Amino acid sequence: MKVTDVRAAYPRWRQLPPADAWQAHFWQIAVRVTTDVGVTGYGYGGGGQPAVHVVNDHLRRFLIGRSIDDDATIGAAWDDLYRVSIPYGRGGVAQMALSGVDLALWDALGRAERCPVHRLIGPRSKGRVRAYATGGDLELAARYGYSAMKLSHDWRGQDDFDSAVEGVAAARAALGPAAQIMIDCYMSWPVGVAARMAELLAPYAPHWFEDVATPDHLGELAALRPRVKPVLLAGGEHDYTPAAFAEVGRRGALDLWQPDVTWAGGITGALRILDLARRHGVPVVPHRGGEPWGLHLIVATDCIDLAETMPARWQEPREDLWIGEPQVLDGSIEPGDEPGFGVRLNEALL
Ligand SMILES: [Mg+2]
Repeated sequence: MKVTDVRAAYPRWRQLPPADAWQAHFWQIAVRVTTDVGVTGYGYGGGGQPAVHVVNDHLRRFLIGRSIDDDATIGAAWDDLYRVSIPYGRGGVAQMALSGVDLALWDALGRAERCPVHRLIGPRSKGRVRAYATGGDLELAARYGYSAMKLSHDWRGQDDFDSAVEGVAAARAALGPAAQIMIDCYMSWPVGVAARMAELLAPYAPHWFEDVATPDHLGELAALRPRVKPVLLAGGEHDYTPAAFAEVGRRGALDLWQPDVTWAGGITGALRILDLARRHGVPVVPHRGGEPWGLHLIVATDCIDLAETMPARWQEPREDLWIGEPQVLDGSIEPGDEPGFGVRLNEALL
């Protein structure tokens, strides 16, 4: 089938974080690809209005008239879009835009072949996927039956040793000894603090520390890894390309990689990053992997059996851009079997 048009749009998001958060300005975009066989594909990218500009005013011209018939033709499109965006891209907003396009192409291919994307990727390796809850609401986690949870923690000063211990201890008490408990410090923990945290939190057996330092601190992260064992150093949501992950792997900076399927080049980019991870023997747990795009990847590959979810999103008032998104039941989640990614765009938000 041939692409007849590509258009991106920035939804009229109402539930965004305060203006000092980057997400308030560059949150997720929707991409629509139309084809000459009457099939329309939908993708989800990041980068806000600047990414919409990238798609509509630049990438679009390289897609119209292009044949999309399999993973190889999507991969060739990806390579061309990546190459033309190199002067302003190689990550960030440009790659978030490309991700939305890639996912729309995979969705279109799945719909054309009446096949879920996970089956296009490969044989199903998992049934339902163990979900973890991001956010500290223990009552909500219990209600959905989670056996894994990630708390966020900001380092501002010495008192925050205590706040971390209190938070992790409470989660361990609520979820029990078998639960996985993770901490996301969003690049706020100095390396020395992370090493001390590993000692203080050891009685509560945290599973991973996420985003301890920035992606520019690969050497520091590599040196920190042995100091926090058996806690894993996780990261990668701010790495957007196979080239970036190749460097993470070469430097041995992380124990566990977390590419975001909607930012790091879509399914095509994620599959290439998975190849690199395999070569380095590093497990992968996609960032926001409980959304349809991540779930299709997880069940069809050797990603770890673990999907990140945000149960707060399912509370009223809900703001669903995608209709038919899977939700956690008894602590697990799985993608639908409908063609493509199995979700419909809520046009009322555009
Ligand atoms: Mg994170």
